[in-house]
Amino acid sequence: AGAASLALTLSACGQSGEGGSEEKSGDTKGALVGISMPTKSSERWITDGANVEKDLKAKGYKTKLVFGEDKPDQQVSQIETLIAQGVKALIVAAIDNKSLDNVLQQAADAKIPVIAYDRLILGTNNVDYYASFDNEKVGQLQGQYLVDKLGLASGKGPFNIELFAGSNDDNNTRYFFNGAMSVLKPYIDSKKLVVKSGQTELTKVTTLRWDGATAQRRMEDILTSTYTSGRVDAVLSPYDGISIGIIAALRSDGYGTAAKPLPVITGQDAEIASVKSIIAGQQSMSVFKDLRKLAQSATDMVDASLNGKKPEINDTKSYDNGKKVVPAFLLKPVSIDKTNYEKELVQSGYYTADQLK
Ligand code: BGC
Repeated sequence: AGAASLALTLSACGQSGEGGSEEKSGDTKGALVGISMPTKSSERWITDGANVEKDLKAKGYKTKLVFGEDKPDQQVSQIETLIAQGVKALIVAAIDNKSLDNVLQQAADAKIPVIAYDRLILGTNNVDYYASFDNEKVGQLQGQYLVDKLGLASGKGPFNIELFAGSNDDNNTRYFFNGAMSVLKPYIDSKKLVVKSGQTELTKVTTLRWDGATAQRRMEDILTSTYTSGRVDAVLSPYDGISIGIIAALRSDGYGTAAKPLPVITGQDAEIASVKSIIAGQQSMSVFKDLRKLAQSATDMVDASLNGKKPEINDTKSYDNGKKVVPAFLLKPVSIDKTNYEKELVQSGYYTADQLK
């Protein structure tokens, strides 16, 4: 689907505002807030952009929303433009966490508070708050799901597993991977889990810009080079779009039949296509992150910053960006699969039942 039609499909989801607008005092009333999202190639960021705009408008702000195309340079110049257009605050989900130094210095010079949205921005003092999820927990949920489904705790195995991680320029990547490995490593050490490709180091398994096609090629290469005998029983995948690529590679290799079932495979974001894949019995699970709450947190941070107040923070130690520990509000991720997606996603009003048909 094109971005426009995707945006339309999504306009019905992720709505959580109370409606109505609060009166703003002083010169923050009606202030323009810039929102810089990384890409439209993944549904979640389109939803994020829409949710953040809606919440800011409900709080009485004007908004300007831009998407990079997963190109760090483009994101930098878009933020420069937002500053030139007179934004009073910035919400930024970084493409490359280390490329924003200069432009955030410009923001600081113009006294513009900066909220890091879901992805921490590294190496700069000029980031005020961080709104995200417990990212290590995301990885733990993925790892634990694999352990449970394979029955490793009750002594089953050995099983073959392959590991995939996210983009190396996204600070979240190592949190997800380390979280998952904290659960999987004991079984790898005891040889109940075997990484036949031998690719276990984070640097060997990252997927630049979270690209599904890149992951698909890597899975194809592993299948050809390593699985001339034996079968893949499990795949650690960090994100739904990557899982889609991996599943495509497996299916073209003959996986997905009774004789050769698809491996247990994880994901993240509970994007619509992947929830459908879960319902169809292909992808096994995803990690649902309620983007309605994330937008609320980030926009509260903006509102507080512009009104000389303290926003709600629940973590002041986990996220050191190399220059400072950035005060954060971290939300709770939820593991979803066939057994609980209705409760978590439909009954919670996140998606309609129709969207998942
Ligand atoms: C986000 C994930 C997302 C990934 C790819 C990460 O920074 O935390 O939710 O799956 O980027 O877009």
